[in-house]
Amino acid sequence: MDTQCSITVYSRADREAAASVFSTLRSFASSIDRHEEGSDVWRINENAGMQPVEVSGAVFDLISRAKELSLSVGGAFNPLMGALSDLWDFQSPDPQVPSDEEVRDLLGAVDINALVLDEDSHTVYLADSRLVLDLGGIGKGAAGMLASQELARLGVERAIINLGGNVCCLGSRPDGSPWRVGIQDPLSAGGYFTTVSCQDASVVTSGSYQRYFEADGVRYHHILDPATGWPAQSGLVSVSVISPDGALADAYATAFFVLGLDESMEICRRDGLQAIFMTEEGEVVTSY
Ligand code: AMP
Ligand code: MG
Repeated sequence: MDTQCSITVYSRADREAAASVFSTLRSFASSIDRHEEGSDVWRINENAGMQPVEVSGAVFDLISRAKELSLSVGGAFNPLMGALSDLWDFQSPDPQVPSDEEVRDLLGAVDINALVLDEDSHTVYLADSRLVLDLGGIGKGAAGMLASQELARLGVERAIINLGGNVCCLGSRPDGSPWRVGIQDPLSAGGYFTTVSCQDASVVTSGSYQRYFEADGVRYHHILDPATGWPAQSGLVSVSVISPDGALADAYATAFFVLGLDESMEICRRDGLQAIFMTEEGEVVTSY
């Protein structure tokens, strides 16, 4: 998943479980990696506009969730932005700002209804050959939750799974109190601007400081607004969502980053969600 991952357990007896969950994590991460030749998501993309592709149950469930969550935030989270992410190519050593025309052309194909799912056959079909499925906005949260469920199944009572700053907490601290999870300060590398209490839940953060390039004095970051195809400019620099549902926390953190403070707060009230926002001015706002 292009990031450092750690699983912390608190008893010697749990070490073997942690090691086996690492291999579960690795294979799940490979199956949803669109750049890995032969992976489920790679095959879906290779067959875009041509034919449905059968995938594993876990991958099918994640893609269904991604579609459902996209619809519940009015499309601000959209797993079909892969071709636009490729166009922007934030990972490139020499990234370029694309032209309006290139962006508009690819954005024209992005429509969540073109992600066609068949529950019975576990197949996924992209109805337009220009579409590229990208689970980068939901994968880490889903993987954290998967790891946590797997650990619990193996009898582990408490653990912290950290996937590049996206933290999933299993159980509580040894003294029974909730874990405290630090939220990275976008303005100071390595520092935290706040901590949150967390028990059997994930804390997932989206931020414009996580991946970006600069051109002519402008910072272009990796979270794209599906309404424009350009990096979202909603006045936020960081959004964290805390939820027992890691996939939801991840998708919503990305969506909230796109939507900005006011609309996100409305969704938090609607869905009873815990979120922490930092604005460009450095103001911290919580939904709870
Ligand atoms: P996150 O770090 O969870 O906010 O996800 C960002 C990653 O998700 C990016 O690196 C892209 O791969 C992808 N992405 C970018 N914009 C969006 C969006 N609006 N909806 C869903 N995925 C996105
Ligand atoms: Mg996300």
